[in-house]
Amino acid sequence: MPELPEVETVRAGLAPAITNANITKVEVLEPRSLRRHPGTVANFVAELEGKRVLGCVRRGKFLWLPLGNPEPTGLALVGHLGMSGQILLRTPIFEPDKLTRVIIHFESAGVAYEFRFVDQRIFGGLAIDHLSATEDGRSAGFCPEIAEDGWINSIPQSVAHIARDPLDANFDRTAVIRKLRTKNTGIKRALLDQGIVSGIGNIYADESLWRSKLYYDRPCSEISVAKLNELFEHVYEILVAAVKQGGTSFDEQYKNVNGESGYFSQTLNAYGQTGLPCARCGKLIRREAWANRGSHFCPKCQRR
Ligand SMILES: [Zn+2]
Repeated sequence: MPELPEVETVRAGLAPAITNANITKVEVLEPRSLRRHPGTVANFVAELEGKRVLGCVRRGKFLWLPLGNPEPTGLALVGHLGMSGQILLRTPIFEPDKLTRVIIHFESAGVAYEFRFVDQRIFGGLAIDHLSATEDGRSAGFCPEIAEDGWINSIPQSVAHIARDPLDANFDRTAVIRKLRTKNTGIKRALLDQGIVSGIGNIYADESLWRSKLYYDRPCSEISVAKLNELFEHVYEILVAAVKQGGTSFDEQYKNVNGESGYFSQTLNAYGQTGLPCARCGKLIRREAWANRGSHFCPKCQRR
């Protein structure tokens, strides 16, 4: 399942070509990929054709492209990769990609491209949504190409409930830690709660908890502010390292915009390492069933 580093890899690959590009034609091959779109397929196509893409913004695992006509229209194309979605950037001569659900044809600096939304299981999707001002009046998400003013300070309504992620320049770590200290839920459950902090999925939660020597089900309220700060240092380092390496390659579903996999799996210490010796103490990594998936941890370094 694509997590923040995979989605950021897609965003960074897409942004140079699609920023200031003009959408020429839209083909919807699978209407179920527009399940979250409030209008009809014809309306989706009409909202996009002839528009200009102003940028490519990400918060957590959501991506959006604010639209212009050419001035900002107050609308954006919002994309979520779900369990198996991919966004591929192709030139029209490139062979068709299997399981392509939507094709957005666009022209950028005189070159024709295709934004191909590929999704095997159709849990992801695309939608047109209204933008509204962010609560704190700041940049709505990660988009280093664009200066902080104008449309960048507005967020799609369907993404507004998602908290800022740790790579966001406006992520308020102190406020998040203060909130965590009031919660009696296990730390991993809180890290995965997109209303508290977004963009931390199963893989990166297990990895940052291993680095911090924290047991995944330890109640947040019992963890010191200093330890939570240490945990968020690790979260940040791990996400940055994973973005640099293009995400986690063993997830076959995930590909960058050129259809290539990342390499972060070579540096995993806990996730998927069941039965292998802990890199710190040599005790065997254990997996416990947790919330319909698993939690990987070292029983010696990460005591209950
Ligand atoms: Zn250990």
